[in-house]
Order: sequence, then C-alpha cells, then structure tokens
Amino acid sequence: MNLHSNPAQADAPPIRLVIHGGAGTIERGKLTAEREQAYTQVLAQSLAAGYAVLKAGGSSVDAVIAAIVVMEDSPWLNAGKGAVFTHAGRNELDASLMDGATRMAGAVAAVTTIRNPIRAAQAVMTRSAHVMLIGQGAETFAAEQGLEIVDPSYFHTEFRWKQLQKAIAEERVLRDHDVNISTLQPDKDEKRGTVGAVALDRYGNLAAGTSTGGLTNKRFGRVGDSPIIGAGTYADNRSVAVSATGTGETFIRTAAAFNTAARVQLLRTPIVQAADSVLEEIAAIGGDGGLIVLDANGHYTMRFNTKGMYRGTIGNDGVTWIGSYAGNELPQENSHN
Ligand code: ASP
Repeated sequence: MNLHSNPAQADAPPIRLVIHGGAGTIERGKLTAEREQAYTQVLAQSLAAGYAVLKAGGSSVDAVIAAIVVMEDSPWLNAGKGAVFTHAGRNELDASLMDGATRMAGAVAAVTTIRNPIRAAQAVMTRSAHVMLIGQGAETFAAEQGLEIVDPSYFHTEFRWKQLQKAIAEERVLRDHDVNISTLQPDKDEKRGTVGAVALDRYGNLAAGTSTGGLTNKRFGRVGDSPIIGAGTYADNRSVAVSATGTGETFIRTAAAFNTAARVQLLRTPIVQAADSVLEEIAAIGGDGGLIVLDANGHYTMRFNTKGMYRGTIGNDGVTWIGSYAGNELPQENSHN
C-alpha cells in the first residue's frame, strides 16, 4: 500500500461509468476550440451525473439514465435536443436500455415528442410487458407514464437544420457524421453524436444504454442499431455491458453488442480483443464506429476504428478522464481485460 492510498477506498467494490458521445472523424485541430470545449463540458457533466448516482449507492441502471439524460439535453450531441433531422424535417429519436442483472430491456424508436427517450426506454423496461415500442404508440405510453412530452420544435437546432439542407442538396443520407449510407464511405468532415453509457454499481450489477437521432436525411421510418437490443446496446452481468455507435446497419448485421458480450462469455476473450474482433467484422462489411465495454470487475475499454470517438470514464477515485481523437487513449484504457 502506498502512503496515499485510502484503505476504505481500496476495499470498496468497484464502481465505474463509461460514456461515449459518438464516433467519427474527430481529429486534433479540426474543431474550433469553442466546439471542443462544449463537447468536453457535456461529457464531464454526464460523467458527474452518473457518478453521483453510483457514489450514493444507486443502481447502474439509474447511473446510465442520469448520464444519458445530460447528453440528451445538450444541443451538441445527436440525441434528444440536438438530434439530426429526417428528410421530412422531423427529429425521430431512438433509445434503448438494458439491465445486466435481470436482462430486462426497454427501447423506443422513431419518437418525436418525448423529451428524454432514454427515460421512455426505462418505462418500457420496467412498466410494460414489452421490449420495444415505436412511434405514436410509444409516445402515448410515455405520456401515460407521466414522462415529459414536448412539442417537436423543442428538438430543432439551427446547426442540424443546416446539416439537413446540405444533405438534401447533395442527395445524401448522413450519419450525424456525414456518411453516405449507400456506400458507407465516411465523408471528410464526418462527426457523430449518438450517445451511450455503461455502468457498474457497487452491487456488481451492469447496465447499458444508447440514445440517438439516427441519420441526417433518413427516410421511410429508418431505424438504426441504437434502439435494438443486441445491436446497439447489451448488458449481462455474466459478461459485459456494451453501447455502440457507428454505421447502424452494419452494427445490426453483426449483432455488435451481443457479439461482443458472447465472445467474452463463451470464448473468454479479453474485452479489448472482443471489441476489436467485432469492429473488424463491421469493417469487413463496410462499416465503422466504436464500442464501449465494461465488465463486472470494473474492467473497461473504449474501442473505435474511426478517427476518433468522444468518450470518458470515471471510477471509485472520482477522477474524470475524457478523450476525443485517437492517440490520446487513457494509459490503462486498453490494458484492462
Ligand atoms: N448508430 C447510429 C445509427 O445508425 C448512428 C451513430 O452511432 O452515429 O442510427
């Protein structure tokens, strides 16, 4: 024991929160200092909110929700307020949540009036017999459950509106991140903002959640991986909690979140390799993105095969770490397995 270690803390069961704010072409010096600071600030607030829950003895599910609500309420990320626009000029939101202790799960897709879709996912998980509700039905359910309902204009931001006009002019369907979905070729100024969180509480329970506005200029009721359990989100105390971001269609086709958990549970693959193997599968079919992964011992990793991924973590010591582009990994980030 070194002189500064705190025995109480050393004996404390591990608590951990890991979040992401989307993956894409996030490179040093590409964003304005103001933008970069705004992203860092919202990630820090999200970590603080989730950590407060875990520190006070709250559940991993509540920590995930607290962390995601902050990111949904921020106009900077593609979830809740600040979500991207569909071709028809609407904001259609998707979210999912999974409890690793019970493997209960809830999700909503294509909702337009629920201020915090992650809370609606929780209501579906805990107060319905179902796993996924969509569109107007999900909105009616959320209202009945007393969740905050807003006018669709609440989600409007000028920045996203301009993004849509650009996408329409170029006849492209973009991730919040400018990707041509027909070729899945990342654009030069690709950026992403889907948000996600995974948490471990002091009782050893894992949880995962993901929330997004999906793709700019999406049509025909398109839904990506984020609200799909096993694709964008998965949690099982016997393996890991996972939240994904990236080219949604490829994450669905590879069952990315479950695939990661299955490798850990069945093949006993270390978490870093499990995440990398899944990202390789995704790359092999033309996709890219990132995964945050956390196990019941508090080991975690934040892997991506894009230029960057907004991400951050906090654990027992209360020290916040936040990163964006590749190359500034946490020293221990990839050694935990
Ligand atoms: N995976 C999300 C989707 O396809 C987008 C993202 O993560 O940026 O809807």
